[in-house]
Amino acid sequence: MRKNIVAGNWKMNNNAEQTQQLINDLKTAVSGLETETRIIIAPTFVNLALAQNNAAGSSIEVAAQNMHQAKNGAYTGEISADMLTSIGLQTVILGHSERRTYFGENDATLTEKVTAALENELEVIFCFGELLEDRKSDNHFNVVESQLKNVLFNLPASSWEKIVLAYEPVWAIGTGETASPEQAQEMHAFIRSLITDQYGAEVASNVSILYGGSVKPNNAEEIFSKEDVDGGLIGGASLKAQDFTAIIKAI
Ligand code: PGA
Repeated sequence: MRKNIVAGNWKMNNNAEQTQQLINDLKTAVSGLETETRIIIAPTFVNLALAQNNAAGSSIEVAAQNMHQAKNGAYTGEISADMLTSIGLQTVILGHSERRTYFGENDATLTEKVTAALENELEVIFCFGELLEDRKSDNHFNVVESQLKNVLFNLPASSWEKIVLAYEPVWAIGTGETASPEQAQEMHAFIRSLITDQYGAEVASNVSILYGGSVKPNNAEEIFSKEDVDGGLIGGASLKAQDFTAIIKAI
């Protein structure tokens, strides 16, 4: 069965000392929690090893925010899947809208990245979602369908054990504006129906579909209460231990 997941995408925030501090605060906050929910944090590359050491022995998992698709070689400034697994990471976020918007990642790049991650046995949290103009023009279902189909629907069914989806409408990221719980549920149900059509009901019912975009302690419970919402990918609110813990408790 699919798992509930709350993942914190720290983006380009927190230096080494702040990383250590936030993980320590989180460890204290979650130590007494009786929860089946997976708790994941994604610090910046440079602090991943530190985070991994700090989180060891707790229920907090550490993930990377991105990786390069090549095995190794002349790609100045880049990080490979093997480098991530070599420090014990098991999960990588791919396709975040900021990567797509500011760093030109598209379906072709992401297909290569997903393939490289899976070859290295990394779990992928795959982000996708429509722009405001897509929603306004009632094109959001088409956009989401093509983002998924172009990158993920050539994978064999067995690969889906390593895929977590994160639906993040771009107009809701960092804007304080969330999709309504009904809008989230409508899209998540649509996504699950696409997977059912392509791979069958078992794969579809086992994949966790997270919602991302301005999830906060005061709206998390309502969004997470929806049947097809299996947790969240949290940006801003993952930077404070108290808020992030409140969101974990909201599941
Ligand atoms: P936000 O970011 O929670 O700050 O809107 C979400 C994300 O980018 O994953």
